[in-house]
Amino acid sequence: MTGRVLVLGGTGEGRALAAALVEHGVEVVSSLAGRVADPVLPAGEVRMGGFGGADGLAAWLRAEGIAAVVDATHPFAASMTDSAARAAAATGVPLLRLQRPGWVAEQGDDWQWVGSLEEAARAVAGFDSVFLTTGRQGLAAFAGIPGRCLVRSVDPPAPPMPPRATVLLARGPFTVSDERALMRAHGVDVVVTKDSGGTMTAAKLVAARELGVPVVLVRRPPLPPGVPVVATVAEALARLAGHESRAPAARPPA
Ligand code: NAP
Repeated sequence: MTGRVLVLGGTGEGRALAAALVEHGVEVVSSLAGRVADPVLPAGEVRMGGFGGADGLAAWLRAEGIAAVVDATHPFAASMTDSAARAAAATGVPLLRLQRPGWVAEQGDDWQWVGSLEEAARAVAGFDSVFLTTGRQGLAAFAGIPGRCLVRSVDPPAPPMPPRATVLLARGPFTVSDERALMRAHGVDVVVTKDSGGTMTAAKLVAARELGVPVVLVRRPPLPPGVPVVATVAEALARLAGHESRAPAARPPA
């Protein structure tokens, strides 16, 4: 595996892939959006902030002599994923999507799938105590719900927010016993989540099942067509090893 690899990150998988690439002696640069005040940084080189859309990313890939891109962003980071697909098509730089599988209901789960945060807000409008775990972006969709709302996010959310919100600042992973205790303490009678998948934040689903609390899940946005997708870091490494990497273009002087 030769050449410089760009990992579009902001996820546990992105960090794990960067660590594995560094371990294999591959030159890697991880990119973070720069939204979280105190992000957990990946191993290797890190850059922060947007590229300026697909054109900006394409120019960046050329200037930095990137041999391959792995889009390991969150399943709901649809703009970045779309930009990555368009920039890869424009530059010919190979692109791989690393996306963890979505959650699958088990016996005892009471799940309702919805297509958007707005639809989720309509689904929970009749409940007394809503546990909102959809992140601080998009809270405006819930600004009209009348019930109490426990809002959990990594950084403090900004208005507009649900009028009767209690904000809990926390970063996963969470345990089932903590989630159960939290939901009991707040008398939660419905949970709202995106279908993020993975284990970091799955404990709330187990706690909800145990407590008989229904869950409203927002479906993932579709992936751009034609981009190969892998589910694990090991598969991503194998695919990268199989790539005939291009010789990196000259980098401009620093
Ligand atoms: P988004 O809506 O797809 O991104 C909006 C814009 O932010 C992108 O067009 C891009 O700006 C910039 N951006 C996003 N991810 C970037 C990255 N890794 N490196 C450089 N620029 C990036 O994404 P989002 O939902 O706001 O998520 C932002 C970050 O948080 C992502 O890295 C994602 O993996 C992580 N995250 C998101 C969620 C979620 O629920 N959405 C949850 C956990 C973690 P330009 O157009 O200027 O390039």
